[in-house]
Amino acid sequence: MASLGSGSRGNATLLQADESCVLVDCGFSLREIQRRAAQRDFDLSDLDAILVTHEHSDHSSGVAALARHCDIPVYLTHGTLASGRVSNCPQVRTFNGDTQLHIGAFKVQAVTVPHDAREPVQYCFEYADQRAGVLTDLGSVTSHVRNAFDDCDLLLLEFNHDRRLLADGPYPISLKRRVGGDWGHLSNTQAAEFLAQLNLSRLKHLAIAHISEKNNSRESVETQLRELDPALLDKTVWATQADGFDWIEPSVRKPFEGRHLEPI
Ligand SMILES: [Zn+2]
Ligand SMILES: [Zn+2]
Repeated sequence: MASLGSGSRGNATLLQADESCVLVDCGFSLREIQRRAAQRDFDLSDLDAILVTHEHSDHSSGVAALARHCDIPVYLTHGTLASGRVSNCPQVRTFNGDTQLHIGAFKVQAVTVPHDAREPVQYCFEYADQRAGVLTDLGSVTSHVRNAFDDCDLLLLEFNHDRRLLADGPYPISLKRRVGGDWGHLSNTQAAEFLAQLNLSRLKHLAIAHISEKNNSRESVETQLRELDPALLDKTVWATQADGFDWIEPSVRKPFEGRHLEPI
């Protein structure tokens, strides 16, 4: 898994296994996603498909242009397609929420989430005995979500806002209510409570994602994680708006234990 950017100004997450590669969402222009992919030494022509979570522009604005450019299918729910915000795709594969999809080497579970969009889903990917979850843009955690994202090796999880910073922040009251409501985004507290309910024994990397630039701080997220389990901080990567994060993988590489030889 790698992120090409995460936050309210654009999201795109790469998943690769074996020879298969998919992109979850594209909230960037074609030129911008090409620039970001090049930074990761990733060739966009290697993509097999784009999976869309929902129609909000930070997830969908660049989907059709990229799909046309690469001539690849776009997977999205009937509701997301009906929103009219993702159109002119060369190949469209619609499904009902909570469907299992098979895309290349991946078994993909779409998971419906509470969010203020037509038919939003998030995704859990399985390959061999490994699981990777992508979970952002939900206002509350249901038992359904909890079951679907348990036991992940890699988990990209929304830590959108700090409740106090949101309350004291610059947003108008209506937007504060929407973001903080049950159909908005997860606060740091909600995300940490969610993690506390999961089996994390297999977790190798936790990616902190969709972080609000106006209503959150790293300190607040780190405080929540430290209270939960200080060891989590060693597994944490930060999905930034500017850069996302570099490739993470389930297998843990053993640290070099031999003697470091001087170069000759
Ligand atoms: Zn979003
Ligand atoms: Zn959204």
